[in-house]
Amino acid sequence: MDERFARQVLLPQVGTEGQKRLGEKRVLVAGCGALGTHTAEALLRAGVRRLVLVDRDVVEVHNLHRVALFAPGDVGRPKAAAAAEKLRTLDPQAQIEVHVAHLDGPLAEELVPQVDLVVDGLDNLESRYVVNEACVKYERPWIYTAVLATYGLLLPVWPGRGPCLRCLFPNPPAPGAIPTCAEAGILGPVPKALAALQAAAALRLLLEGPAAPAGTLLYLDLWGLRIQTVEVKRNPACPTCVSRDFPFLREASRTATLCGDVVQILPRAKTSLDLGALAARLAPLGRAELRHGLLFLEVEGVHLTVFPDGRALVKGLRDPNRAQALYDQYLAR
Ligand SMILES: [Zn+2]
Repeated sequence: MDERFARQVLLPQVGTEGQKRLGEKRVLVAGCGALGTHTAEALLRAGVRRLVLVDRDVVEVHNLHRVALFAPGDVGRPKAAAAAEKLRTLDPQAQIEVHVAHLDGPLAEELVPQVDLVVDGLDNLESRYVVNEACVKYERPWIYTAVLATYGLLLPVWPGRGPCLRCLFPNPPAPGAIPTCAEAGILGPVPKALAALQAAAALRLLLEGPAAPAGTLLYLDLWGLRIQTVEVKRNPACPTCVSRDFPFLREASRTATLCGDVVQILPRAKTSLDLGALAARLAPLGRAELRHGLLFLEVEGVHLTVFPDGRALVKGLRDPNRAQALYDQYLAR
């Protein structure tokens, strides 16, 4: 037995056999921001040495206040690659697979069947629906974890044994309905706290299999020091885990690179945006101006032209994944 796990092996919940099993498990880390990287680090240090990292974005300077694995020298590098490099220094025996890509339906269908568990480091509900559908389809457990401002939520999902994410949130939110970290902000220690809870839940799911509890939604507010749990029931009319309909897995990419360095992004569904309200909401974050019935937005040095039907043209970026990330942060939710 590797000496580094000596204190963990002492736990009756783990033991020598359990530690060996952890080393054989493979975990998909969906998203490599603060939540994903802290979870990945905790799992690797606990002996889960086979990780698959997926992230479409690059490290930005405003990530550094909450992401322990990233340093100023990583700014501009793909998050998944930068995270993998740091994780390999923590454990040279680790097998870490990297995908610098948007976790869309086809990629989820490829990766989810190859892992024992999926952990959540995502920043939008739509991508979580993709993961939820893939996990239900291929009967893999996953842990929904989300953070915002000073609080976070966590729900272990074991398809067939408890509720899925769609049982909890039946419908995708309307564009702009839910704020994101880009708008509401995030307290640095929040993702680390939720990542610790997620890693603990992950270890239990990996060690106990279907005997591990699923279906308890946990809410933790770090500022108010409040913690609550709620039992979530399976929805007998759930389109995902009851009807087994998987529209998010079928969805093709919504980005297209146009002439020059313009990326067009289509909304997920037919929508009608109140551009005036959107402009008022986004004005504090950059430049937001209504002209000719269109919203011209400048955030993070990038220009977005937003149409009332939810379509957006992103100028100044050659990377469609980055354009999609900005769209999801400021417009889509
Ligand atoms: Zn469900």
